[in-house]
Amino acid sequence: MKKLFAVLGDPIGHSMSPIMHNDLFSYYQIDAHYLPFHVKNDDLEDAVKGLRALGVGGFNITVPHKSAIIPFLDEVEELALNIGAVNTVVNDGGKLIGYNTDGPGFLRGLELYMPSIEGKKVLLIGAGGAARGIYFTLAKEKALAIDIANRTVEKASGLIEACPYSTSSSAYTLDEASRNLEEYDLIIQTTTIGMSPKIAELPLNVTNIKKQALVCDIIYNPLETLFLQEAKEIGASIQNGIDMFVFQGALAFEKWTGIFPDAERMRENVLNQLGGKTC
Ligand code: NAP
Repeated sequence: MKKLFAVLGDPIGHSMSPIMHNDLFSYYQIDAHYLPFHVKNDDLEDAVKGLRALGVGGFNITVPHKSAIIPFLDEVEELALNIGAVNTVVNDGGKLIGYNTDGPGFLRGLELYMPSIEGKKVLLIGAGGAARGIYFTLAKEKALAIDIANRTVEKASGLIEACPYSTSSSAYTLDEASRNLEEYDLIIQTTTIGMSPKIAELPLNVTNIKKQALVCDIIYNPLETLFLQEAKEIGASIQNGIDMFVFQGALAFEKWTGIFPDAERMRENVLNQLGGKTC
């Protein structure tokens, strides 16, 4: 019988996950289908009960339910519990187990450009939900130092205090960080600045980025934010948010099927979906 997979979110119409996962199910000849469901906050518990009753194979959770889902699951892996957010659920013989593949997905994508982060000095720009997942994942992987710069600097300090993995970190304002950018080997932009409608804005002045640095922006629409364009002009290497999106999906697919899928195929598929939609 065909297995059901799903993604729950509000809104959900924009999600590229259904096309990406349905293509993989057909490519690997797995008799399964992945559907998007628009679920409001108040309906989340009922939606999870429904999926459980239907014997779903697994599902993704997207904004705004990544934290709210946790009480409705039977088990949550350590990293997701520490991050406080689940984006992937596996139905293991009736037991719903939650994982976070966002931070690990970023790391897998990063490895294409920087095979090891050991000994690297990292600056994370932003202290929201995505930054939290990336910060905890990199801290667990033992980056030498991970500083955080955020418009609301208290949120950056809060993230550092909350991190259960030992790493050396300081919190900075965006101006402070921009003055010291030459210190960093890896700079990861996680704010919403650069995404539509803020495509002509920068989170901070990039003049002091060093040429040898790798500069990542987790935004993928537009594919090259102004932040990445300016870093590239300085001579730095750049990476956009497509890899993070593709690898979070690849890791979810692997948890559901045991197959680590062809990430290049997934990337092509996502780029096709973005065709004509990029700002
Ligand atoms: P979030 O929790 O709402 O965090 C937003 C962050 O942006 C905060 O650090 C916030 O600073 C900062 N910010 C917002 N407006 C700003 C402004 N005008 N000036 C300076 N900083 C500003 O959002 P999120 O879930 O972390 O998502 C952040 C971005 O990551 C989004 O663009 C999202 O599309 C992208 N993302 C990509 C992937 C992927 O797979 N590639 C996955 C997840 C998210 P304050 O704390 O001061 O408000």
